[in-house]
Amino acid sequence: MNQHIHCIINNCHYWEKGNKCSANEILVASDAFGTNQPDSFDATMAKQLTPTAADSCMATCCKTFVPKNSDKINSDNITKMS
Ligand code: SF4
Repeated sequence: MNQHIHCIINNCHYWEKGNKCSANEILVASDAFGTNQPDSFDATMAKQLTPTAADSCMATCCKTFVPKNSDKINSDNITKMS
């Protein structure tokens, strides 16, 4: 699949110029999941996670977000694409 993820969150470790996400995979989740689960729960665990519904885009979040220069960059086991 030749997928492009566009993102405008420019303080994320995975954000690149042109508003592109360079993460090799991401996890979009409900805000509740994002709030309650640790950083280690991310895209690499997607097949194990129970899907949930959301009422609108405002109730979803990118669980893969990590602030640039954060000490938590490696906690999600996600890598940047080359
Ligand atoms: S990981 Fe999420 S927040 Fe970060 S650049 Fe990619 S889509 Fe945006």
